[in-house]
Amino acid sequence: MSPTPDAIEPAPVRAGRGRDDACPGALRLHAADDGALARVRVPGGLLSVAQLLALVLAAEELGDGALEATSRGNVQLRGLRADAGGELAQRLRAVGLLPSDTHERVRNIVASPLAGLDGGAGLGPWVRELDALLLGSETARELSGRFLFALDDGRGDVAALDADLTLIARPDGGALLRLGRADAAAVVADGPRAALAAAEAFVALRSGAWRVREADPDGTLLAARLGLAPLPLPALPGRRPGVGVVAGGADGAVAAGGGVVAGLRFGRADAAPWRTLAALAAAATGELRVTPWRQVVLPGAGAEVLPALAAAGLRTGSATPWEGATACTGSPGCAKSLADVRGDAAAALDAVDADAVDADAVAAPLPVHWSGCERRCGHPAGPFVDVLATGDGYRLALRGGASGGASGGGAIEVTNQQMAAAVAAARRTT
Ligand code: SF4
Repeated sequence: MSPTPDAIEPAPVRAGRGRDDACPGALRLHAADDGALARVRVPGGLLSVAQLLALVLAAEELGDGALEATSRGNVQLRGLRADAGGELAQRLRAVGLLPSDTHERVRNIVASPLAGLDGGAGLGPWVRELDALLLGSETARELSGRFLFALDDGRGDVAALDADLTLIARPDGGALLRLGRADAAAVVADGPRAALAAAEAFVALRSGAWRVREADPDGTLLAARLGLAPLPLPALPGRRPGVGVVAGGADGAVAAGGGVVAGLRFGRADAAPWRTLAALAAAATGELRVTPWRQVVLPGAGAEVLPALAAAGLRTGSATPWEGATACTGSPGCAKSLADVRGDAAAALDAVDADAVDADAVAAPLPVHWSGCERRCGHPAGPFVDVLATGDGYRLALRGGASGGASGGGAIEVTNQQMAAAVAAARRTT
């Protein structure tokens, strides 16, 4: 399988943890520095207009007014009052975003966001079937809140996200099922049912592990338990969506209507941009898709919506320094942070934009990630420019690659004023 530059960094393999994960949910709120945080699972990233508007209103009336897209295509609310949990749950139930109190944190399903829009097969039926199967399984409620299902239409985008169980669509309607980090996958006739069976089998053998990679990294134990005979994985293109217009296409007799992908700056936006997205979706198919790369897809929309998206502050062009730029939460949301990394990073990226520094070179730059502390939450896989807060400024270094550590020469210390030029130069270091 081809690597994807923004795949979630493969985590080290750990033995079973023997304790519950502390992953936040819609009912289990996380106490952050800026108030309570709720993470709402959105299987496949699929949202209706009514669901998005309900989330926006909840963010305004119960939280800090913004919504965040996560690296699994879920949606977070921050800055919630400590007593907001009950009210939030009621609102989510009313629009179908909390169909089960017991299973809410295990509905972690990512799906190829452009599936069915540019000529491939749609994945909506798989998402809904797998979600329904999970909700109906008493065993599945034992899964960790970190357990991830990836449903890939064959383009290899979400298949590169280091999921616990990956289904890859086959042209004949069947699927390949990959178990953990196996370099092989088994042909299965009914993908969602096979994925549920594998998840239930994992619960039986996990010994306290949260992820398949911790208990059975190459999937051999699960394959034996399920009676599967995996074959070598095919090469997949590994194409993830870029922002902008998605051309429609055709898959046999099925026409694909295309769409538009809008980028969220660091995955976060206030109510107004989200309302713009909802209005544009309502004028198209009524559906939105939140991607694992902090984007929102408007199926069926065309180039005519780009001005409205840009006016709302959403990214619509890929050739800017914001492409491939990520940052951890930082201050004020995280107590460990030594700086407001998102504010500082935005200033640096906009400064490069405004000065149009070497526009050709920044069209395909190295990824860059800002972190408020050494944990570097959410940093990309592979080589990237590491911008780490020090308390006095930032330290820049090239990291990633085979060793996973710092590489490519020594780190440099920069002030906020020096950061824009230094980051732009480092991103051109290949
Ligand atoms: S990298 Fe450090 S500062 Fe940033 S969110 Fe993670 S723990 Fe907080």
